Amino acid sequence: MSGWPGSALEGLPFGQSAQVARFEELMFGPVRLEELAEQARWETRKYFGRTMRLFAPLYLSNECVNTCQYCGFSKDNPIRRVTLKPEEVEAEARHLAGTGFRSVLLVSGEHPREVPVDYLSECVRRTVPLFPTVAIEVAPLEVEEYRPVVAAGAEGLVLYQETYDRAAYAEMHVSGPKRNFDERLLGPERGYEAGFRRIGVGVLIGLADWRKELVALAGHLSHLMRVGWRAQITLALPRLRPAAGGFQPRVAMSDRDFVRAICAYRVAFPQAGIVLSTREPKKLRNGLMELGVTMMSAGSETEPGGYTGVGKERLHRTVRGREVALEASEWERAQATEQFEISDERSAEELGMALRQRGLDPVWKDWDRALTS
Ligand code: SF4
Repeated sequence: MSGWPGSALEGLPFGQSAQVARFEELMFGPVRLEELAEQARWETRKYFGRTMRLFAPLYLSNECVNTCQYCGFSKDNPIRRVTLKPEEVEAEARHLAGTGFRSVLLVSGEHPREVPVDYLSECVRRTVPLFPTVAIEVAPLEVEEYRPVVAAGAEGLVLYQETYDRAAYAEMHVSGPKRNFDERLLGPERGYEAGFRRIGVGVLIGLADWRKELVALAGHLSHLMRVGWRAQITLALPRLRPAAGGFQPRVAMSDRDFVRAICAYRVAFPQAGIVLSTREPKKLRNGLMELGVTMMSAGSETEPGGYTGVGKERLHRTVRGREVALEASEWERAQATEQFEISDERSAEELGMALRQRGLDPVWKDWDRALTS
């Protein structure tokens, strides 16, 4: 079975490795899922103890210059948009910190004018006093652009390739700078060079043959662990959910295959962090808590201003990239449009309780800048 599916790494700048072969064997070979799950549970306890890091996303802006067919923020979707001011980002951050979170992921659509590096650095600076762990998930940047963001205090970079299948990538990313597959693919390495100490990569399940996507992600992980050995590498494989624009996933991956993938990554890459988002339903998230996942989001809002309502008075629509005021009838109870629907709607407190019921410790803070300063 080793080497299958053989074409998954073709055209990518990373080749076969012992870890990729091991992943393929576990994922597609004859080992029973129950046996693999037991192994995954054991490896997780060995490397991560009985802990689960909790984090929350904080959306800065849902403006975007790209057209990605699967995303609610896509440029051509006439959705309600806003970019938060740095002081509004701080208000959102205060709210999240008040609910217990100590780890935050600043997320934004890709828009060089609305979300320039200076703005991003300022948002990080305002967030850092409240959160020991600040990561960003924004447009891929150059090394010199990442540096001020790191200097402002961001220590984590999340940059998913979305799909490793070049044909599907070209089809899904219709216009905008994101069409450049290779520029995105090399982003995590540029981030590592700029000083990020936690790098997250991932693939959106639903855009192309998931079997090949999983192997390509394994190849990317293996490569990053070699060239970025000082960083902690994390992986995620969110399954696509419905979004504004009406996109329906092109391929489906069953729960059983999804669980198997998490377990196979855990055993093949025992030191990698594995992130599980609120896109997955509560029951499945509960089941996966002990089987390899090390980071979970909770109480998530996927629109700017989603936690406190800040920025509401500047909401507008975009039609073919142009700003259009909301109709008077739309103002009541209007909020920015979310990126995707979440499935597990539990609050951080409820998720913490579910973890403790399973003998796991929710970890709000596992890092302090003083450790490296
Ligand atoms: S996936 Fe990212 S780049 Fe694409 S439309 Fe959504 S926010 Fe913009």
